[in-house]
Parts: sequence; C-alpha cells; structure tokens
Amino acid sequence: MMVKQLVDGFGRVHRDLRISVTDRCNFRCTYCMPAEGLKWVSRADLLTFEEITRVAKIMVEYYGFNSIRITGGEPTVRAKLPVLIKKLAKLPVDLAMTTNGVSLPLIARELRKAGLNRVNISCDSLRAERFAELSRRDMLSRVLEGIDAAIAVGFRPVKINCVLIRGANDDEIADFVAFGREKGIEVRFIEFMPLDADQKWGNNQVITADEIRYLVNSVSPIEPVVRTSAPATRYRFLDGKGYIGIVASVSESFCTTCDRVRITAEGQFRNCLFATSETDIRKLLRNKATDDEIASAVSTSVATKWAGHQINQVNFIRPRRSMSQIGG
Ligand code: SAM
Ligand code: SF4
Repeated sequence: MMVKQLVDGFGRVHRDLRISVTDRCNFRCTYCMPAEGLKWVSRADLLTFEEITRVAKIMVEYYGFNSIRITGGEPTVRAKLPVLIKKLAKLPVDLAMTTNGVSLPLIARELRKAGLNRVNISCDSLRAERFAELSRRDMLSRVLEGIDAAIAVGFRPVKINCVLIRGANDDEIADFVAFGREKGIEVRFIEFMPLDADQKWGNNQVITADEIRYLVNSVSPIEPVVRTSAPATRYRFLDGKGYIGIVASVSESFCTTCDRVRITAEGQFRNCLFATSETDIRKLLRNKATDDEIASAVSTSVATKWAGHQINQVNFIRPRRSMSQIGG
C-alpha cells in the first residue's frame, strides 16, 4: 500500500498517535481530576484491544505513523494491559506510555517484555506529604519505586513529568533537577494547562518556561538543544550531566510543529488536545466500516485542524473533556 502523509491545512504532517486505554485512575491529582473522580466510561463503551490495534495499524499503514503513546486516565488500571502492548509492539513504531508509576514495581518487567520501549512517569513532588496533597494519594514511595523499576527493567529513556503550579510545588525545581541528574533521567517540567476537571485553572498559577529556565539556570546552567516536533523543548546542562525538558504549552505554544492526534478510551478521534469536536471512530468500527472508510474519516478530521489552541485569548474555548478524559 502507498503510504500517504496525514497533512492538515497548515502543512503539518502527523505521525504521532496518543491512545487512551481507560479514563479511570487510581489517583485524583488536584490539577486533573476532582476528589470524587468522574463518571467513568462503561466497559462496553471502551474500545477493545482488537479495535485499538486495528486503528493503530490503519494509522501506520495508511499514514506512516511511527510513534504511539499509551495513556489514560491511568493506563495501568486497564486489565491485561501487557496483552495490548504485545499486539501494538508488532507495529514498526516507537511504543511509549505515560503513567503515574504506582503499578510499575509490579508490572514494569512484564510491560518491557511485551515490547513497550519507554515510559514517562508523572511525579509532581518529592516530598511525601505534599505528594499526598497533590495526588490525593499517599504514594510517593511507590512512585519512586516505580521509577527505579522502570530504569532497572531497561526502559530507555525514562522521563519524569512534573506539572508545576505556582505556590504548590514551584519551590521544588532545584530538587527535581538534582533528582534527575542523580538518577540519570530527564525531568520534563510541564506548564499547568486549563484542562483540570475542577475548572480552577488560572493563568497566574502557570510557572512559565521563562521562569523555569531562570530557576534551572541558577542551579546549573543549561543551553537549548535543537527543537523537534516533540512537545518538550530540551536543554542540556553545560557541565555535561544530563538534560531537562520544558513543555510550555501555555507561554510558548508549540502548535506550529504539532504532529499529534489522539483517540479517547471510548474511541473518539481528536485532532488536537484542545479540540472541541471529535470523530466517532468507535461507531465506524462497530458498524463494520472498511479500513479505507476509517482512514478517510481520520483525514477529514485532520484537514480541519486549527492553527493553534489560543489559550489566554478571548476566543479560547475550553474543551468539554478534562485531561484524564482525553489522554494527556
Ligand atoms: N495517569 C497518567 C499520568 O498521570 O501520567 C497518564 C494520564 S495524565 C492525564 C498525562 C499527563 O498529563 C501527566 O503527566 C499529567 O501530569 C498531565 N496533566 C494532567 N492534567 C494536567 C493539566 N491540567 N495541565 C498540565 N498537565 C496535566
Ligand atoms: Fe490520574 Fe494522571 Fe490525572 Fe493524576 S494526572 S489524576 S494520575 S490521570
């Protein structure tokens, strides 16, 4: 089959698929989910492993996708996750997962064996009490064990995702820098985005890339590494001891180089994290649509992708879904 490019109206070629395998989570991070959780998608409405694999295969065969990231909700709460990983690992893609890390002490080895290449582990504080406040779960030690397990079983690279929120954890930047350099892993500082289910986001809570660079530089000087289509801008420590990343979705949006599309746990295709409309791929899958028809629905959606999300501008529209329901 001739591989085509999945291009939008601004000439951006898409090659990176984020698949949410569940909207459920065992954490309740304050910047993501309410304390009581959300109304979960019913089991019958979740895409099956066969359906997920079929969509992934279409993206690879029709459009040359070379990167797939499994996310959620918390992907490791989806039963039999290694079975799905094994199916997806047969595709010629870089297969990654974003996780809160608590299950990794138990299943890291199995996931690695199934063919998962790398993991990003979210961790927003290195102080137990504060971690418990932020995630509403007293589980820092388990997450730290999860990070060690990920390194031990050979995921490469292992990265840490740290969402910075003013007044909550921004005094830990130096600690995270030291932690990453000591473990030989990359910490990615993420700007807080207006995708919290509680809708309490305020621009004044965002620690901007400028501030992050200033604070990191005052611990140990850094210089930028040439940008790719990845969401994080990477920086190298001048003393040669490692890298950090900054995901500046709010203050330095990277929409012009975006190459990502998403599929939610219940099979809704989204051409942008902030999209306000979706394409119902599950309906197509369950109504016996052909691969051509599914590929064509994807391409119609991507053709209408907007230039950028417009956070902080008057015409910004907050998506109906929160981060855990989209798949970050
Ligand atoms: N449960 C997994 C985890 O926490 O890594 C995967 C799903 S989570 C929605 C994916 C990423 O989104 C995590 O790194 C999380 O910290 C980040 N995230 C969640 N809500 C966010 C928000 N409002 N702004 C910025 N990042 C957010
Ligand atoms: Fe769960 Fe991840 Fe959201 Fe935290 S950020 S509540 S771990 S989905």
